[in-house]
Amino acid sequence: MFDTHVHCGFSSDSSMTLAQAWAQVKDEPKLGMVVTEHWDYEYPGDPKKFIFDRDAYFAEYQKLRRPGKLLLGIEVGMQPHLAAKDDAVPQGYAFDYVLGAVHMMNKEDLYYKKAYQGLTQLQAEELYVKTAIACVDSHKNFDAFAHIDYICRYWPYTGPEGELHLEEHLKLYQQLLGKLVERQIPLEFNTRRLDNQQAIKTMLDIGHCYAGLGGRYCTVGSDAHNKTHVTRRLGLASVLAKECGLVPVYFEARKMYRDRVL
Ligand SMILES: [Zn+2]
Ligand SMILES: [Zn+2]
Repeated sequence: MFDTHVHCGFSSDSSMTLAQAWAQVKDEPKLGMVVTEHWDYEYPGDPKKFIFDRDAYFAEYQKLRRPGKLLLGIEVGMQPHLAAKDDAVPQGYAFDYVLGAVHMMNKEDLYYKKAYQGLTQLQAEELYVKTAIACVDSHKNFDAFAHIDYICRYWPYTGPEGELHLEEHLKLYQQLLGKLVERQIPLEFNTRRLDNQQAIKTMLDIGHCYAGLGGRYCTVGSDAHNKTHVTRRLGLASVLAKECGLVPVYFEARKMYRDRVL
């Protein structure tokens, strides 16, 4: 199994070094990982917070790279108005993997309450999925789509309202997932919320929808920001993916590979 979502020293919100993450997988023959450092242009209030020195990244990480085992990637936070800049971030650098993510809505970080001001849960969800569609439409340079349920981590709605509602926005979800399927962009099963039965059901619903539209591949990623979370719940994510009929993959030199375990 390949942990395709790991944040280390070049992500300003991570408390682990690449050496510490590597220590979690290096002696496990069935495990591999790709580091995906954050890159988000125009982060509200602190525009440089999630920007790093790409030359320093490769100078430091290249010597740790191991084909099929430890790979070098980046997570690009997409915003529709930044598409050209976002797509240019990996250019000229030997990234193995570019993970496309939606962290922002109307230029506000989904992490903060301000992003949801004046919105009901259904309105917030509609805006989020429409933003994701606009990001996917406008961005051409990413390999997989990160944490589709990201908004559920932070929005202020709780109980049944705390989950995504596929049935209420089915056309929009089909549009988003259909665009990924068309371009053979795998869907990430992010394990962050998979300690929760409702979240598991959400991911199964989304996975089934994606597969029903013709999607075949997914990635599994822990989104670890500390060493205890590396590879966390990857087994469960793989089981859920299989239940949806999806095959977990990873990327090396921007090419898709099947997990060696399967
Ligand atoms: Zn982070
Ligand atoms: Zn992310």
